[in-house]
Amino acid sequence: MIKEITAKTILNYVKQPDTWFGLSYNLNLYRGCQHQCIYCDSRSDCYQIENFADILVKTNAIEILQDELPRKRKKGTIGFGSMNDPYMPIEKERELTRKALEVIKKNHFPVHILTKSTLVLRDIDILQRIAEQYAAVSFTITTADDELCKKLEPGAPVASERFYAIKELSDKGIYTGVLMMPILPYIVDTKENVEALVSRAAESGASYILPWFGMSLRSGQREYFYAKLDELFPGMRRKYEIRYGEQYQCAVPHAKELNQLFDELCKKYGITKKVKVYKESCAVQGELFVKG
Ligand code: SF4
Repeated sequence: MIKEITAKTILNYVKQPDTWFGLSYNLNLYRGCQHQCIYCDSRSDCYQIENFADILVKTNAIEILQDELPRKRKKGTIGFGSMNDPYMPIEKERELTRKALEVIKKNHFPVHILTKSTLVLRDIDILQRIAEQYAAVSFTITTADDELCKKLEPGAPVASERFYAIKELSDKGIYTGVLMMPILPYIVDTKENVEALVSRAAESGASYILPWFGMSLRSGQREYFYAKLDELFPGMRRKYEIRYGEQYQCAVPHAKELNQLFDELCKKYGITKKVKVYKESCAVQGELFVKG
């Protein structure tokens, strides 16, 4: 269900230094996400989102941004996509992300967009203008198998479409890369998948690839994920329960070996494991976050 709401604030200051992307602010124009990935962390009880399938549109978001942004003293990177995908299907008609990018450009702020959607290609023109400051687009891709994508991320474009979008963006000079995360235990944690993801990222012109050989599981998120495992991968839930119990960080069983393979592949294909961050950002150069 789509609901319209008015928000009090939409730009949140990132208090802890963000060592991955160097973000200073997070921007959320929507609440809930139409991509409905079965592993989504935003379903966790701690975020208090009553029904993640409901999409809340912050109708006054652009007015708030126009008011707030000129008053921000720190010209740090604004991140899109921490609790929802800024290019989920509804963005096609509402254009809140595009309008926000216009405001950001006008105020000379850098941006880093996290997405799974090809709709970002619509905004190449404005991203090229923001890139005079700094613009990066990271695509989350957890499996190179399109059929598996349809099960894991039912509302999002499949992996081959995301690789196509990376190629289009990099050909147009936009700094882009792959977030290879989460790598779901027993489902996508194979050598073949890691090899396919790294090689296709490189072929598509990705400038970087960041892995996380594992996933998070928190209350709320766990129940939904396990129900989906029962539906899509019968018998799989038991493996998770035995290995991880109530654990939050769930590393894949062979994380060390996969990480070693990943390093070798990155060298072979000449792709870096670090993201270049905006120079005035409070964060250090992006670092790997590998569990296990
Ligand atoms: S795209 Fe991101 S925010 Fe949206 S459902 Fe998937 S994991 Fe969650």
